[in-house]
Parts: sequence; structure tokens; C-alpha cells
Amino acid sequence: MKIPFVDLLAQYKSIKEEIDQAISDVIHDSAFIGGKYLKTFEQNYANYIGTKQCIGVGNGTDALFLTLKALGIGKGHEVITVSNSFIATPEAITMTGAKVVFVDCDIHTYNIDVQKIESAITSNTKAILPVHLYGQPADMDPIIEIAQRYNLHVVEDAAQAHGAEYKSKKAGTTAPFACFSFFPGKNLGAYGDAGAIVTSNEEFAEKARMLANHGRKEKYNHEFEGINSRLDGLQAAILDVKLKHLEKWIERRRAIAKIYDEELKNIVITPDVLPDVRHVYHLYVIRVKNRNRIKEFLAEREIHTGIHYPIPLPFLKAYGYIEHKPEDFPTTYLLKDEILSLPIHGSMSDDQVEYVIKQLKIAVNRL
Ligand SMILES: *Cc1c(COP(=O)(O)O)cnc(C)c1O
Repeated sequence: MKIPFVDLLAQYKSIKEEIDQAISDVIHDSAFIGGKYLKTFEQNYANYIGTKQCIGVGNGTDALFLTLKALGIGKGHEVITVSNSFIATPEAITMTGAKVVFVDCDIHTYNIDVQKIESAITSNTKAILPVHLYGQPADMDPIIEIAQRYNLHVVEDAAQAHGAEYKSKKAGTTAPFACFSFFPGKNLGAYGDAGAIVTSNEEFAEKARMLANHGRKEKYNHEFEGINSRLDGLQAAILDVKLKHLEKWIERRRAIAKIYDEELKNIVITPDVLPDVRHVYHLYVIRVKNRNRIKEFLAEREIHTGIHYPIPLPFLKAYGYIEHKPEDFPTTYLLKDEILSLPIHGSMSDDQVEYVIKQLKIAVNRL
């Protein structure tokens, strides 16, 4: 049985008529940039998250960059983020001219270790950028508390956490500013690059919206220089169709995660979820010894797994200039050789889930 890591074609087939109609509507209205489809999606996504504003932008990396930029972060400043994330998170910090400061992750949730944040703060620190990695929110209460004490901004990187919740608050509302990616493979994915910033701060929203659109509100009246990073009409219309199905797909992911938990908890380390949190399982990440051999064994049986991420951020060549050592990030360093992301998505059948479990059990017993 072939088990792809994600299956965007199966998802498309399940909503084909709605998607095809939406694409055709945008083309017939020539509503490619701006326009009603963008407005509708921004409104619906803001309603779903529970913020006053949603600003559609070109991708999740730009969402982070534009947010930091709109907060006035730049040269001479430092922004704290987690060592266990995708490169887009620190890239957005560096793009503003600020310095990225990595903090190790927690051994249970794999999110930023809140105990280690305070010692990373200096007089130049302007913001904390926690990531809700794999679809589980970071422990936001202590982060907000620290930020208030040191007068820092908090921006959520919610690129993997559409629909996740922390103490009954949706990811995207646990800090004043949050960023989403709609990269095709994300839990809510476009048919190309797309992203959004959400906030209930109207003044910030106006600034961010202008920055994303050449520093203007009106066509040729540019109040400052911005960039061109817009969510286009086609992607907005596609996302609006998919948003209606998102909860159903999240529930399917959660149901699969529950089966994985029960069947695998005695043979591998399964994900640890904070109390009062809704994990949306963008990724279902286990920990195993002999990870590489197990990954290979599964691949030979057509089960495609992933590693998120094989080289932790501080040890990437891109950040070699910071000269970090493994002992600076003991937890992240330990995890990198053990983590394995199993296939999980809204279109996965029970048979496929069973097959993954069966083969993984064989692999762990044998290797
Ligand atoms: C996907 C992702 C991003 C960037 O999103 P793009 O839309 O690909 O630019 C940022 N942060 C995290 C944690 C992500 O997973």
C-alpha cells in the first residue's frame, strides 16, 4: 500500500466542484489582485481565528517579516525565537536587519523552552517570536508574562497551527500579532504561495497592510516604501473554499493522532500535549532510536515519512556565523537524530493508518 506523506490530489478530488467553480469565478471577474474574493477570505479567516483584521500577504515568511517591520523592528534590535523551527522564522528576523537569538526547545512539546527565555534577553531585545511547531501552541502564558515584564512585543508564528487552541484561545489570538502560512502542504493550504497576518490592533493592521502593498492606501499615493507581497484573488478564493472544510480535516487529523497515540505509545515516544491545548497535528512527530534505519525500512514499504528538521537552525551553515555549539541547545541537539514525522492528513484512510502502524511495529521490533 502506498502512503504518501501528504496527498493534495485526494483532497482536491473531494472538493473538486467547489474549487473549479471558485477558480472560474475569479477569472470571469478578473479579480486577480485585491477585489472581492480577497476581501471575503480575509473577513472569513479573521472571523474563524477571532481577530478584527486579517491581512492577506504573499506567503508566511513575508507575513513574519512584515509584522516585525510594522512593529519598527530593525537594525540594532534582537528578536528571540526557538532553535527548533523552519528557517523562515529566523530569516524574517534577519530580513529586518535585527539579530536573531535562538533559545532551546522543551523536551516534551518541542516548542520554545520558556525557562530559557529570560536569560536570552538583553537591552536590545525587542520581541519574542514563539512558533506553534507541528500544530501545538507554545506555552503562551509565561511568554506573555515575560514580555510584559520586559516590555517586549510577542508575535506568534502560527504557520503550522491553523485552528489550534491554547486555553480556549485560538492560535492567532494568544498574542497581539500572529502570522500564518498557506503553503500548499499546510493544514490550510493554497495552490501556490500565500500567507496572512492576523491582529485586532487596527493601527498596526493599517501599517502592515500598507507595507505589503508598496506603502500605499490609494493607487499612486505612496506614503512610504513597502514591498509587493499580496495574497492574490485566485489563492484567496481557493482558501475560502477550503476554510469551510478545515474543521473536518483537523478533526480527522486528531482522530488519526489518537489512534497513533494508542497503538504506538508503548514502542516509541509519542507526542506530549500540554493540558488545555488543541493540537492540530500539522505533523505527527515521534521519537525513535535507529531513526534513519526505521525511516528507510518504511520507505521500502512505500510509507513516506519526514524529518522536521534534520539540521536544527543554530547548526545550519546559514547561521554558522553565530558559532553555536551543541551544548548551547542540548534538547534540540538530542532530538535531531530521533524525530520522525509520520504521514497524517485529512484524506488518510483507516486502512492507511493501520498499515503505517503495522509496519512501524515491525520496524521497531526488528531494528
Ligand atoms: C511554512 C512555515 C513558514 C513560512 O511559510 P511560507 O508560506 O512557506 O513562507 C514559517 N514558519 C513556519 C514554522 C513554517 O512551518
